[in-house]
Amino acid sequence: NRKRNARGSVGVFNQAIYQMAREEQDLRDGLRRAIENGQLFVMFQPILSAAKRQPWAVEALLRWEYGDRSVPPSVFIPLAEKTGLIHDIGTWVLHRACIVAAQWPQESEVAVSVNVSVIQLMDDRFVNTLDKVLKSSGLDPTRLHLEITESVFADNRETVVRQVNAIKARKVQISIDDFGTGFSSLSQLQSLSFDHIKIDRSFVQKLEEGSDTIIRATLMIAREFGCKTIAEGIESNAHAERLIEMGVDCLQGFHYARPLSAEAIRQWLENQKQ
Ligand code: C2E
Ligand code: MG
Ligand code: MG
Ligand code: MG
Repeated sequence: NRKRNARGSVGVFNQAIYQMAREEQDLRDGLRRAIENGQLFVMFQPILSAAKRQPWAVEALLRWEYGDRSVPPSVFIPLAEKTGLIHDIGTWVLHRACIVAAQWPQESEVAVSVNVSVIQLMDDRFVNTLDKVLKSSGLDPTRLHLEITESVFADNRETVVRQVNAIKARKVQISIDDFGTGFSSLSQLQSLSFDHIKIDRSFVQKLEEGSDTIIRATLMIAREFGCKTIAEGIESNAHAERLIEMGVDCLQGFHYARPLSAEAIRQWLENQKQ
């Protein structure tokens, strides 16, 4: 009797594993066709300068509408990386973001900030893709920022440094995303010429528990490296005031705007001019 129970629960367990595997296979197949099926969308979230409270840049954030559900990037980006689909998807996002940004008011000089996966960055063809996208979109390279995470240093440091230098040579700027959540050392970061540090949302949330140590330390590091700081995940005026007082350069979060469609961000930027 006991044996049967044990076998029964193993059966349920196996079934759960099987279900998960099927689910992943389904997502893989769906993702493979997501571009051609027109299921991918780029949303745009403003980043404001703390000094002027004016738009400074806009982050491009990818969305996947798969059938009647919306699969979050935290699920499909890792899958795209695992399957190699990230190359095509990443190129598609970069192109789309640059085309959209090229239509924003020129005088505002707002940049578009695109997330780049480490898998893309490690690929020899990436810089060539970047050149093609800049050319076909007509976007001024100084108005493009690429966001990379600290995890790029996990291995292949030399390749990363070479790629980043090639990107910088094109006058495209580099932001280190989710700063403080990875495992790179300061000496590794020093070998990289980047322009901005993005303070992760988790540290902004910690302000509510009265903890600002990581943010203060990050601001000091940024000052030493001579780069700008951007705080993400600002959800309240209290967050904003605190961060501005601490000396953060730029602000991003639901408090200012949620990610918007291409049409809505254009309108939003227009409205900011008055
Ligand atoms: P991330 O680059 O750190 O992007 C910021 C995330 O925080 C976005 O989530 C954004 O919607 C969310 N966010 C912004 N302000 C707030 C706020 O005030 N409160 C809260 N709760 N959340 C806020 P999203 O769009 O779900 O993207 C998650 C992650 O997926 C991104 O984190 C990025 O790592 C990745 N991702 C998104 N699009 C792309 C892409 O095109 N390529 C690559 N490689 N990764 C992407
Ligand atoms: Mg980002
Ligand atoms: Mg971020
Ligand atoms: Mg983050």
